[in-house]
Amino acid sequence: MSTQDAGMVIVGAGEAGARAAMALREHGYTGTVTLIGEERHLPYERPPLSKAAMTSVAEPTAAFILDEERLTANRIGHISGVRATSIDRIGHTVQLDNDRRVPYAKLLIATGARPRKIAIPGAGSENVLYLRNFSDALAMRARLQPGIRLVVIGGGFIGLEIAASAIARGCSVIVVEMAPRILGRAVPAEIAAVVADHHARAGVTLIVGVGLTAIERDGTDEIVVLADGRRLVCDAIIAGVGAIPECGLAEIAGLTVENGVRVNAQLVTDDPDILAAGDCCSFPHPIFDGRRLRLEAWRNAQDQGNHAARSMLGAMEAYDRVPWFWSDQHDQTLQIAGLPDEGDTAVVRDLGGAPMYFHLKAGRLVGASAVGPIGKVARDIRLAEMLIQKRARPDPVLLADPTVKLKSLLPTEPVAA
Ligand SMILES: Cc1cc2nc3c(=O)[nH]c(=O)nc-3n(C[C@H](O)[C@H](O)[C@H](O)COP(=O)(O)OP(=O)(O)OC[C@H]3O[C@@H](n4cnc5c(N)ncnc54)[C@H](O)[C@@H]3O)c2cc1C
Repeated sequence: MSTQDAGMVIVGAGEAGARAAMALREHGYTGTVTLIGEERHLPYERPPLSKAAMTSVAEPTAAFILDEERLTANRIGHISGVRATSIDRIGHTVQLDNDRRVPYAKLLIATGARPRKIAIPGAGSENVLYLRNFSDALAMRARLQPGIRLVVIGGGFIGLEIAASAIARGCSVIVVEMAPRILGRAVPAEIAAVVADHHARAGVTLIVGVGLTAIERDGTDEIVVLADGRRLVCDAIIAGVGAIPECGLAEIAGLTVENGVRVNAQLVTDDPDILAAGDCCSFPHPIFDGRRLRLEAWRNAQDQGNHAARSMLGAMEAYDRVPWFWSDQHDQTLQIAGLPDEGDTAVVRDLGGAPMYFHLKAGRLVGASAVGPIGKVARDIRLAEMLIQKRARPDPVLLADPTVKLKSLLPTEPVAA
């Protein structure tokens, strides 16, 4: 079979993969589209797994991105419950673990990421849980019964969202974070402090700046042993200590992997017929001087899926969408646009009880972050994103003034890169 007949193949039927499959059709591609995923489900959304899937009264169902009807209507072949194990770059085929080989003209790797495991004595206990997929969420939800004593390891987004959900389910919750504060470098300290305060008020105990040495068992109790000697007795442990990009296929195929599958601005790997998108992909961002990023964010996965589809069809544009991320914890939303850690100066604006920080680098807006009720935060973060995309250099005094509409600060003329 010639590569012309082979069609478009996408490995990984998650956010980026499903979006790419649809986008190929939306951009007019009429050949074969095949979406290969190792999970047995139709493609589904992951963000609800730590939120509504935990807190809903009714047993949750997966929030499907594509259903059978749309797959059929768009002639997308979905091979589920099957793992791709290798790529033959010369023969242009993908090997599956059911002995099938799928030919491709262009191949998209959209394999996402997997939870990083904790590596201390006792961490192999069946009471140490991780969250990445719908099955994990169901198992976790079943454990989080009222009165359960839960220790969450890791004060990042996933750990904190689970902590908020577990409190809502009537559990008692301790979060242990090794770093001096929650949420790491990507979130400014001021915003992290507001989030920490909301958790404390909701009844979550936060322990920061202490590592773990072991997990022990005493009868039916689990004990998380901290480096300072404290022993946290609990019924269940959830670890949210980051994710590792799924790059196995790319590595076996000899593609460059550097904290993700390395791609160029068009999301193409070292091999012109293989692309990557979503959580597994490391890409240069033109708005941030080509800084290489790997984002674990829902909208990035969608946008890159869409962009990769266009690149598969021959478009030559650089992917330049401003990073955007949200996290819902308790009744608050935290939103970040751009890259706050690029900034050298910060300016704060009061959104009526919700703080919003603008991060400037040599006068140019490079990031914005805010926490508060969604109605107060979403619109201004969206406008900040537009300012960042346009490489705006807004006056810090005007940025800080809540009576000045952010829209009025948008440059009317293109700003030089
Ligand atoms: C619990 C949770 C909550 C989240 N909440 C938020 C949020 O509030 N806000 C936000 O912005 N982002 C959030 N995210 C992040 C967002 O969901 C991810 O960034 C997004 O799902 C990434 O999409 P992806 O397609 O790259 O990877 P995924 O959606 O993970 O899809 C990858 C798929 O590839 C499959 N796969 C891997 N290897 C193979 C192989 N060799 N063969 C076949 N299939 C394979 C995997 O099984 C998986 O189904 C959350 C993530 C999680 C896990």
